[in-house]
Parts: sequence; C-alpha cells; structure tokens
Amino acid sequence: MQNSFTHKLPNTEGYFGEYGGSFIPPDLQTIISEISDAYDEIKKDKNFLSELTSLYQHYVGRPSPIFHAKRLSAKYGADIYLKREDLNHTGAHKINHCLGEALLAKKMGKTKLIAETGAGQHGVALATAAALLGMECDIYMGEVDIAKEHPNVVRMRILGAKVIPVTHGRKTLKEAVDAAFEAYLGDPVTQFYAIGSVVGPHPFPKMVRDFQSIVGNEARAQMLEMTGKLPDHIVACVGGGSNAIGIFSAFLEDESVALHGVEPSGRNLEKIGEHAATLSKGTPGVMHGFKSYMLQNDAGEPEVVYSVASGLDYPSVGPQHSYLKDIGRVSYHTISDIEAIDAFFELSRMEGIIPAIESAHAIAHVAKLAASLAPEGGAILVNLSGRGDKDIDFVAAEYGKEYDLPQ
Ligand SMILES: *Cc1c(COP(=O)(O)O)cnc(C)c1O
Repeated sequence: MQNSFTHKLPNTEGYFGEYGGSFIPPDLQTIISEISDAYDEIKKDKNFLSELTSLYQHYVGRPSPIFHAKRLSAKYGADIYLKREDLNHTGAHKINHCLGEALLAKKMGKTKLIAETGAGQHGVALATAAALLGMECDIYMGEVDIAKEHPNVVRMRILGAKVIPVTHGRKTLKEAVDAAFEAYLGDPVTQFYAIGSVVGPHPFPKMVRDFQSIVGNEARAQMLEMTGKLPDHIVACVGGGSNAIGIFSAFLEDESVALHGVEPSGRNLEKIGEHAATLSKGTPGVMHGFKSYMLQNDAGEPEVVYSVASGLDYPSVGPQHSYLKDIGRVSYHTISDIEAIDAFFELSRMEGIIPAIESAHAIAHVAKLAASLAPEGGAILVNLSGRGDKDIDFVAAEYGKEYDLPQ
C-alpha cells in the first residue's frame, strides 16, 4: 500500500485544537523548523514515499496480517481481530516511524541519529534503522535503565549503536531526554533527533503519526476485505500514543467506528506515582516542548509515573490524543498491572500469541468491552503493538508462581 499523508490536523503551527505547538528555546526552534520544512517537502516526494513503502514491504514485512482470534471471540461473545504489529521486524510498531525518521534524516544530509530511550525499545528500533541506512547512532540512556534492560543494551551495541550512560538525577528516562537534547544542541548540523512517539514539539507529533498511519490504512482495507465492513470498535494501548494514533487515523471520519485508547492504571489509579493514566487523571500543561494533558505537580513539573509496562510510563501524551479526548471522538480507559498480566497469559494460552505487556493492556480492555456488548456482539479490532519476548523473564520472575510456571 502506498502511503499518502493527508490529514486535516494539525494546523501549520502544529496545533490540534489547543494542544501541541512548539515551546522551545529560539536556537532550538531554528533547527526544528528546518526539520519541519524538510518534512513538508519530502512527504510529497514520490521517491521518498516509494523508498519507504519498499522498506516497509521487504524489510519490515508489511502489510502485517489481521488475525481473527476465534477462541477469544467465542469466550467473550464478540468477533475479536488482532492487527499483528508484533510480527514486524524488531517485534513492534516502532520500526514504522524509526525508518521514516531515519530516511528523512538521511535525505537532509544528516549522518548521525540520536535519541533517548527508557526501556530500550525505541533505541533498538532506531539502531536498526541506522544500521540499515549506514548512519551512526547515539542512544542516551539512564544508568538505572542500562542495568535493568540489559538485553536491549546488548542489542543496540550489536547493531553498532553507541549507548551513552546518563549519570545524573534519578538516572532514568527524564534525565536521558535532557542529555539527548543537550547533545543535539551541541551539534544540530550532522545529528538528527529522532523522537520515539507522537510527542515533542511540532512537527514530531504530526510526522510520527503520518509514519504510523500505515497501520490504520492497511487495517481499514484488510477489514473490508475480510468481513465486508468496517469494525465496530478499535482498541489500542496509549503510552505516548503512536501505535494508537497510527490505527485510529484511518477511521477518524467513520462515525460508526468507536475508538478506545487504553492507559495504564498501574498499581493504584487514585495515587500519584502509582500509575501513568495521563488522559484519565492529568490536566493540560506544557512539557518537553508541547502542550497536552500531563500528570504534573503544583509547580507544573512532571510527576513520577509508573506502569508494569515500561513503554507506557510517560507523564504526558501525544497532543492529538488530548484533542480527541476533549472533542469526544476517542474514549480513554484504564487497565491495571494485574489485569494486563492476566491478559498477557490469556492471549498466550488461548491463541498462542505472547503479547508485549503494553499490548496486553489493550487485550485486557477488549475482553471487558466484548463482555459489555453481549449478547449482540460486534467486531472489535485491536492493535497488537508488539510481541512479548522482551517481557518473558520479568513476567516469569514476578508472576510465574500464580500462573503455574516452574520456579
Ligand atoms: C513503546 C511501545 C508502546 C507505547 O508507545 P506508543 O507511542 O504509545 O505506541 C506500546 N507498545 C509497544 C510494544 C511498545 O514498544
């Protein structure tokens, strides 16, 4: 499927309603505006689009299939379909936007990709794109995360990326963002900062959304072909919001299709520091260069967030989601750690698919939604954003006993 990036929002300043925009120092704004201009040019360039489409097809393995999960469907009394982003090369949807950003950087004459990473998933996907396109890659990562996410650190190094430890503050994601931004300001000419979700200053929420929209475009055509109609519901987990907006974007104007985003309520939705349910519990504010809902303290600083899924614990969210919440086009729900782990085992044992813990949040909500539709049922499409290989050791150690794994 050929991509074409035609969406009504954001406006030219990067606003989705009142959200988004660009709140950054003037020297950084000059650099980011160059990226914005280059992107607006290149997204109309036939060569760029066909090169990206060819990589999606021959390198990532697109289109990803849609699978009708029959045993799960029978259990919950609705037709449950899975968009299999877990089958992509590198195991998740992140490769879709990393390839787009890397290809844009290369066309702009940049030689090095840089980014921060928390759990390492974005770092691995970006290191993969860098290796493929013959570019250098520096990944900034907190020392605490480096110790915790050892296999991903090894992966990035095998792929030829440099993993740069960040040793100040809490030594996790927030400090890694600061360090990457500082490095970027130091050399914006040869480097390109590749943001890992639909967040950050304009044009990143738009650009990453456009690259992820392949998921929704494929899914729309696949559902029509498989079932002769559009799905009644679409469900996706929301961290920064890239996999969700990717699948939602093709259905925003289909009024018959209900859209559901799923945030992590972690250990306790009522206690700050114990969840990462930004849209459900946050308030509008500015951080990391854009306006959106965020979990913030009285001084407007980001709060501590937590989820069992490290890809979902971000104290803000993509600005388009804030807009879609306010206008009521998407409903946002929460799923707890325990519910997600239960869904992780249920999908594994009923369909033979081990999901990423992030994606398991979407699966858990699908089960609730399907149960609420009985007895009429309906067709529910879920974006299975990634596979769970990265999570098996953690799940076995933390939850193995309750789910009959040998100790
Ligand atoms: C990173 C990640 C997410 C969360 O990121 P979004 O930008 O919200 O999509 C979800 N699922 C998987 C498998 C991930 O790796």
